[in-house]
Amino acid sequence: MDRNQELFERARRVIPGGVNSPVRAFRAVGGTPRFVQRAQGAYFWDATGKRHIDYIGSWGPMILGHGHPAVVEAVQRAVTEGFSFGAPTEREIELAEAIVQAMPGLEMVRLVSSGTEAAMSAIRLARGATGRNRIIKFEGCYHGHADALLVKAGSGLATFGHPTSAGVPAEVVQHTLVLEYNNVQQLEQAFEQHGRDIAGLMIEPIAGNMNFVRADTAFMRRCRELCTEHGAMLVFDEVMTGFRVGLGGAQAHYASRIPGFRPDLTVLGKVIGGGMPLAAFGGPRATMEQLAPLGPVYQAGTLSGNPVATACGLATLREVSRSGFYESLAAKTRSLMDGLAGAARSAGVPFSADCEGGMFGFFLLPELPRNYSQVMKTESARFNKLFHGLLDRGVYIAPALYEAGFVSAAHSEQDIAETVAAAKEVFAAL
Ligand SMILES: *Cc1c(COP(=O)(O)O)cnc(C)c1O
Repeated sequence: MDRNQELFERARRVIPGGVNSPVRAFRAVGGTPRFVQRAQGAYFWDATGKRHIDYIGSWGPMILGHGHPAVVEAVQRAVTEGFSFGAPTEREIELAEAIVQAMPGLEMVRLVSSGTEAAMSAIRLARGATGRNRIIKFEGCYHGHADALLVKAGSGLATFGHPTSAGVPAEVVQHTLVLEYNNVQQLEQAFEQHGRDIAGLMIEPIAGNMNFVRADTAFMRRCRELCTEHGAMLVFDEVMTGFRVGLGGAQAHYASRIPGFRPDLTVLGKVIGGGMPLAAFGGPRATMEQLAPLGPVYQAGTLSGNPVATACGLATLREVSRSGFYESLAAKTRSLMDGLAGAARSAGVPFSADCEGGMFGFFLLPELPRNYSQVMKTESARFNKLFHGLLDRGVYIAPALYEAGFVSAAHSEQDIAETVAAAKEVFAAL
């Protein structure tokens, strides 16, 4: 037994499945999770002391790489000033200002502690502000584990969803309509049947929880038009894409293709905390002022806007705001995808890939999928072989084929070249 296996055994005695978030358990790919000892830059070292090139980066937050000196310094300073006060601080204003400045769709934000909490609160706000109950979500999009969002499609558009987790009452998800991603016809039908009752439509604009699938421009335009027409809120879940695909998030990407485009509410997390528990949701002043203490929609949090987390987030946002940051990150990510595509091609392995900023996805499929059921056509045995082949060679990608990957500013051309060389060997044996 190596040290990772020993720790996993020990963990399983006191933590369900040995992990504090299910995907970490390697259930999809088999094998033993790597317990992280420490991390620096583009690497982490596991419990056996082995180095891995890290393409997960805490599932997105570590956009600067691990242990960026400016962030470490900001956090160290904050810690000496106090961990938590339960009273307002100047840094919360600074972080809110930084977010609002970068994302034109937001006039105000409320800081919370996790993406789950932010998405859940945005749904409550959309319902409270519209006085309606029904919401739309899409198959393959993940918005955290709040009850109303753990739902799969019912049979046909006339019926609402079924819970995907035990412990979620059917009554709680009966207001959630689950549609196919990128399917304009279904979307139109849903609004035709239920438009008057729909409080909001929540979407991952570039879905990173079914690997990497973009909402195409025509589909997004219809989402915007139908929400406007029916008085529903278009809620962008940018927990993953916010400050990851570019400074203005995925909404800037769509705004450059659809004139005047703006979501009504935006949900953020991951990068804005730089690796600390911090998330946010925001929108126009008139909507956000529906929240307590000004309005009737209740929302609160003891650790919200935590002073150490805001220091970490602010220092991170300061770095990503430097000119050329995303151009260089995007070029690196693109070169990784090109390298992997070349390696797959020479091995005759079907392959397709897409990326935006520092976020990427690749598929062992000849063409990019457009929705969840197409993503799930990937042969999982083949993906698992790829995963373990890379892991053996010190390259750490997501341990499930339906997860996106992340490149940080700390990844060097050398790291990318090493990764591509490892992939070449693995593809040849697939
Ligand atoms: C990670 C994620 C969440 C949930 O955030 P947590 O901080 O894990 O609760 C919600 N939405 C999207 C799009 C995410 O990627």
